[in-house]
Amino acid sequence: MKLCALFALLCSFCLAQSVEFVHLTDTHVMQMEGIHPALVPLFLHTGDILEAFRYDGESGAVVHGQMERFQALQKLSPAPMYLALGNRDVSWYRQAAGKQVVVRDAPMAAEARTAWRGAFECFRNGTWYSFEQRAGAATYLFAVLDNGVTTDPEFVRAQLAWLRKLLAGARPTALVLAMHIPLGDDAFSQAVEEILRGFARPALVLAGHRHTDGVEEISASPRRVQVRTASFTGGKSCSRRVVLRPEGIDVYTTNEPDKPVLTVPVGDAR
Ligand SMILES: [Zn+2]
Repeated sequence: MKLCALFALLCSFCLAQSVEFVHLTDTHVMQMEGIHPALVPLFLHTGDILEAFRYDGESGAVVHGQMERFQALQKLSPAPMYLALGNRDVSWYRQAAGKQVVVRDAPMAAEARTAWRGAFECFRNGTWYSFEQRAGAATYLFAVLDNGVTTDPEFVRAQLAWLRKLLAGARPTALVLAMHIPLGDDAFSQAVEEILRGFARPALVLAGHRHTDGVEEISASPRRVQVRTASFTGGKSCSRRVVLRPEGIDVYTTNEPDKPVLTVPVGDAR
């Protein structure tokens, strides 16, 4: 009798519970080592890689090791990874009287940038850089900017001069311009847009920072489009597929790699 009562109690307990599970599918695990480079996707990360470059510790000592944590993760991926720095990647989160104080002045940013340069291959020659990718007969020029913190006038001047010279001397089929903070109304953006106006090829601008998806047409001819992708954090692991073809750039919907959102025609297809 006692056993029956216990069983009934257990059953009622079971019936009262919800059942929760996670459904996942199509994980497409890919061991990339040894595979022909043409078949391996590259990764482009447009910044705020870290929550912060460093923190105040409980004892008053500085807590380092954030960048090194990402470096350890990045080493697990044999796919080429190109990074842009965001505001948080050069910030020191301090505390004063129990309140958060963010330090991202020029000395802090300069120190952090030096560390990033020493730690990641893509930053070897600086935290802004360029590289090329071929798709058939088309050449895509990637220009990666460092606009997370633009308070140092000399840093800004040097970077804009570099971009102007890069685009003046290059004849790629199209440009992919990557940066953390999207082009907007600020002085840095205005200067970049002015440089882009002197560049007669299509351009895809990729950015993050706002944690939201967005597509903004910058100009119709040549076609220049800014695309923002929502943050990878927050449980949704947002990422966006981009395919560079000889005839155009296909941009897909965030987290829907089979659903194109726009195509930027390039080359003869323009
Ligand atoms: Zn940011």
